[in-house]
Amino acid sequence: MKKYSAFAIAREALRHHTGWTRAWRDAQPKKRYDAIIIGAGGHGLATAYYLGKNFGITNVAILEKGWLGGGNTGRNTTIIRSNYLQDPSAAIYEKARSLYETMSQDLNYNVMFSPRGVIMLAQTHHEVRGYQRTAHANALQGVTTEFISPARVKELVPIINLDGPRYPVLGGLWQARGGTARHDAVAWGYARACSDMGMDVIQKCEVTGIRSEGGKVVGVSTSRGDIDCDKLGMVVAGHSGHLADMAGFRLPIESVSLQALVSEPIKPCMDVVVMANTVHGYMSQSDKGEMVIGGGTDGYNNYTQRGSFHHIEETVRALIETFPMVSRLKMLRQWGGIVDVTGDRSPILSKTPVDGVFINCGWGTGGFKAIPGSGWAMAELMAKGRSPLTDAFGLNRFQEGRFIDESVAAGVAH
Ligand SMILES: Cc1cc2nc3c(=O)[nH]c(=O)nc-3n(C[C@H](O)[C@H](O)[C@H](O)COP(=O)(O)OP(=O)(O)OC[C@H]3O[C@@H](n4cnc5c(N)ncnc54)[C@H](O)[C@@H]3O)c2cc1C
Repeated sequence: MKKYSAFAIAREALRHHTGWTRAWRDAQPKKRYDAIIIGAGGHGLATAYYLGKNFGITNVAILEKGWLGGGNTGRNTTIIRSNYLQDPSAAIYEKARSLYETMSQDLNYNVMFSPRGVIMLAQTHHEVRGYQRTAHANALQGVTTEFISPARVKELVPIINLDGPRYPVLGGLWQARGGTARHDAVAWGYARACSDMGMDVIQKCEVTGIRSEGGKVVGVSTSRGDIDCDKLGMVVAGHSGHLADMAGFRLPIESVSLQALVSEPIKPCMDVVVMANTVHGYMSQSDKGEMVIGGGTDGYNNYTQRGSFHHIEETVRALIETFPMVSRLKMLRQWGGIVDVTGDRSPILSKTPVDGVFINCGWGTGGFKAIPGSGWAMAELMAKGRSPLTDAFGLNRFQEGRFIDESVAAGVAH
């Protein structure tokens, strides 16, 4: 792999950009791998990357039914934060956030991590108490957050309306090193690094069956033939229920569409991320100037990846209360992604009833921020059979009633 650098850009500019090589190989499936990862979203690619980087396991294939990063990874609104309430969540999300800080250097790929700060607005007294509690919990967990006053919110976000008609702004939970990153670049950077380690990223290869013998996985059936493996990681977000069904177990998970939209590009007007959970909408400004706007999930289970009119209306109506300037914006496009939601709004990183099969899912509406931490932990789980970061997130927590309740943080957990 040729190293990307300022010098390389200058050199290629002089020779009309004829010297660049492909970022990753167009790999063909081999007969057998030590490990197969199903799903080339951020979590699957990060799992493969850390299997290679941290454990030297490089005979790995990442199988993707569409194109890499074409699932939720390429459809999300890219908010990164780690201000969760419960200790296991803060640990894995903060691990991820800290890995984002150096990801561009680590992957030699500019993922445009922008730690511009994230505010979660408190607009009811219940939310004030909830976020103050989270700030205290974060202080104990070593996650730097602070509960700020309405005046400080206004200082950080001059375009905000503090005295909304229904819900005035009473303060906010501020994480100064939260922010955003370029979602495609995260997938592409990991894919390039995996390919460079000799791993096969195989697109247009749908897994159609899981093969096991005597309760142990032996391989998968795919649209491009059977492939054998010793270990299998299922990392398919909204399709996790289907894959679990193929392997012969059930998951406590629901798939729903989550939607987002962007406006036309405008001059820079907001340099932090703002989430307004009570009115249910959130907004940031992209580097191109578009206002990136997200709302909630559909109220019924479905597998669509489209936007719908009622969501634009609900989300924009909510945001106009907090940002009156939104009423004058033209919207450019909207879309949806299939998110995988658990009852306690926390992910599942776990062994499964089939020996050698591991599952990573349930990131729901908020898994982009977790990609590096999740990949790091899942790789350790697959390589060593256990990871301190995944211990609390096992499937058995649903049988044992050990829920990791993040519904306060994750009501709008983007
Ligand atoms: C509109 C929207 C906004 C969001 N905003 C945020 C946000 O601001 N911040 C945040 O942290 N998170 C956000 N999220 C959530 C985040 O996008 C997801 O949690 C995260 O991207 C999940 O990544 P993944 O790698 O698990 O899944 P995906 O990126 O969906 O990857 C799974 C892959 O598996 C593939 N696959 C499925 N079935 C098969 C099969 N049988 N064989 C082979 N491949 C298969 C799919 O094609 C897909 O590419 C948002 C999501 C949406 C939809």
